[in-house]
Amino acid sequence: MIPYATAAAAESALGRALTWGEAAWFRYTATTPDYCLYFHSLINLLLAYTLAPVPAALLELCLPAKLTSPYKLQPRVRLSPAAFLRCYRDTARVLVLLTVGPLLFLPYPAIKMAGIRMGLPLPSVGEVAAQLVLYLLVEDYLGYWFHRLLHTEWGYNKFHHVHHEYTAPMGFAAAHSHWIELLILGFPTFAGPAMVPCHMTTFWLWFIIRGVVAIDTHNGFNFPFSASRFIPFYGGAEFHDYHHYVGRQSHSNFAPVFTFCDYIYGTQNVRNYYYITTAYYIAYRCYKATLAKDPR
Ligand SMILES: [Zn+2]
Ligand SMILES: [Zn+2]
Repeated sequence: MIPYATAAAAESALGRALTWGEAAWFRYTATTPDYCLYFHSLINLLLAYTLAPVPAALLELCLPAKLTSPYKLQPRVRLSPAAFLRCYRDTARVLVLLTVGPLLFLPYPAIKMAGIRMGLPLPSVGEVAAQLVLYLLVEDYLGYWFHRLLHTEWGYNKFHHVHHEYTAPMGFAAAHSHWIELLILGFPTFAGPAMVPCHMTTFWLWFIIRGVVAIDTHNGFNFPFSASRFIPFYGGAEFHDYHHYVGRQSHSNFAPVFTFCDYIYGTQNVRNYYYITTAYYIAYRCYKATLAKDPR
């Protein structure tokens, strides 16, 4: 809870008037225990995993294949509504019962010890942006090596084969993993804020961004407006889709966010795959068009 009895006391301590955002934060946190503020970050993560995959799922399920296939990374694979529902149900069960549940209790003392602050002033936009970029880089580096560990024979057979059930993933498959894998990969997500503590609002935003990035890399589409076309070194769906396509045998494209680590450690591979699947799709459409004109 915020350590000021009134907004005037907060302004006096800051030596200036509260901004609109700070006044709203003061009102909200004046009666909300710190534990509940921390709890919000996990609710945000669950909401991101539930809502962010919906647009791509609706595109795949509701639009004709001829409209969506040019943007599908694996256009030959069309998942059924039942497959989407089963993936979401299985993922939500693991998230709620086995991962987010324990995470509600265990890391909270660590969050307090790490110095995640909940009071005033709110961080500046520049501070938030710098911290989020750092967290993404830390997540990427640690996530790369954890992912490579999961591709050892032991790691794959014990845990990681669950995540690779979908060789052509959809957004809901971002967190479709063995519960131990989700806990292991939670470590890189908490590592950044533990190294460089932030404000709780940044912590919330970090969990939303992490969820949305994971969903984006699994959505199975490469649109003209996909983030990977505009953000340098951002892997995106095309990069990670290849990793799922190869599956157990994959020796490339391990990094969860950017492509740095795969370039540095010689495990980068994507372009050939994308061109091969696109060429296959174009050839397939030409073949179908030829059949339609001359059924003999
Ligand atoms: Zn993998
Ligand atoms: Zn994946």
